[in-house]
Amino acid sequence: MDRPDKIPPVIKGLSMDLENSEETICARGGWAPEFVTRPSSPPVYMTTAFDLDGLEQLDDLASARIAGYIYTRDGNPNHEAFASDMARLEGAESAVVCSSGMGAMTAVLLAHVKSGDHVIAGKVLYGRTGQMLNQLQSQFGVQVTFVDALDPAAFHQAVTPGTKLAIIENISNPLMEVADVPAIAAALGEIPLLVDSTFATPVLQKPLALGAQIVFHSASKYLNGHGDVMMGVVAGKLSTMRKVKAMMALFGMNSNPYECWLASRGLRTLPIRMERVSRSAAELSSYLLNHPKVRSVYYPGLESHPTHAIAQKLLPRGFGGMVAFELHGGRETVAKLFRSLGEIPFSPTLADARTTVSYPTGTSHKFMTAADREALGIRDGLVRLSVGLEDVNDLKQELEMALNAI
Ligand SMILES: *Cc1c(COP(=O)(O)O)cnc(C)c1O
Repeated sequence: MDRPDKIPPVIKGLSMDLENSEETICARGGWAPEFVTRPSSPPVYMTTAFDLDGLEQLDDLASARIAGYIYTRDGNPNHEAFASDMARLEGAESAVVCSSGMGAMTAVLLAHVKSGDHVIAGKVLYGRTGQMLNQLQSQFGVQVTFVDALDPAAFHQAVTPGTKLAIIENISNPLMEVADVPAIAAALGEIPLLVDSTFATPVLQKPLALGAQIVFHSASKYLNGHGDVMMGVVAGKLSTMRKVKAMMALFGMNSNPYECWLASRGLRTLPIRMERVSRSAAELSSYLLNHPKVRSVYYPGLESHPTHAIAQKLLPRGFGGMVAFELHGGRETVAKLFRSLGEIPFSPTLADARTTVSYPTGTSHKFMTAADREALGIRDGLVRLSVGLEDVNDLKQELEMALNAI
């Protein structure tokens, strides 16, 4: 059938029969003709602002009588798409996305504490989170007490009249410890508990259902899952998320629409990726456990892991793709291993589609003193393995070759 020529293309904001100068055509260009079919994949709303019909529409938008957006720092359809999917996955009323995990943590802290207030935090945290809390303490007079996340009673004991928030990581980095989230939430009473669930994802663990008020993710990791995005997201009650979102927008921690779009695309395969990496990581951790060059293996799925029992209770769908193992020897032995790993790169991130290795002592936890690391059991021979989507037998072979070379 011939294409009907009767319907002329309508270019938004530009009449086709108007003779515009080249400058005007260029300056107002880039619009596709208007059409009525819908795209099969979500568009990227790469726009700073949204044009308004008039002042009445501005009032309607500002008072939420109509749905829409005004300025991308405050909100954008791609932010909303990722945030609402995350809220549904976490069983939360609402979620807020930010420019990075650290940005999301900043927005949460700004929404909860002022100078003189008190925060309780687990001792084993993502290095930068611990560093941020120390900075809040030294620069802004926020009091911070670090406690053992494996001892729920310690949270109760740490509560002061000024305590506004407690922060833990579950599964924790880098020793993969699983804390008793319901017991910690109970010990804290009315004080909101934030769980950094980056390593577990909503596929393996839903912290809000376990008693936490806020769940946090570095979306730079598994949620996106392809190693090409920096983003963070938090989810919880609508009233809390409103405050967090206000801080996100006010302090400029908004994410980029294109990255939200990428993360939404990554999210489509999250459940099958988590299932796969959990299976491969379980197999590799058993393999490493029996290797003579390996001193110890930290994987919550192993019976030998100190938090295996609670992990079985809290993570019924799998134990994730992160494995840590300690070599006999220190930094030099690790350096040798990294040189021999071939196709498995040393990359200071995790949760890429590819398997990567990292060195907590030199990357995520280098901001700690050697004594503090030693006290937590993060020793110089420790290697962190982020198991990817490759064939597990190929990975085993590559590890075998590299271990035999040291
Ligand atoms: C990476 C990471 C963060 C920080 O997130 P960014 O997106 O890198 O800012 C926080 N917590 C954990 C557990 C992480 O792995």
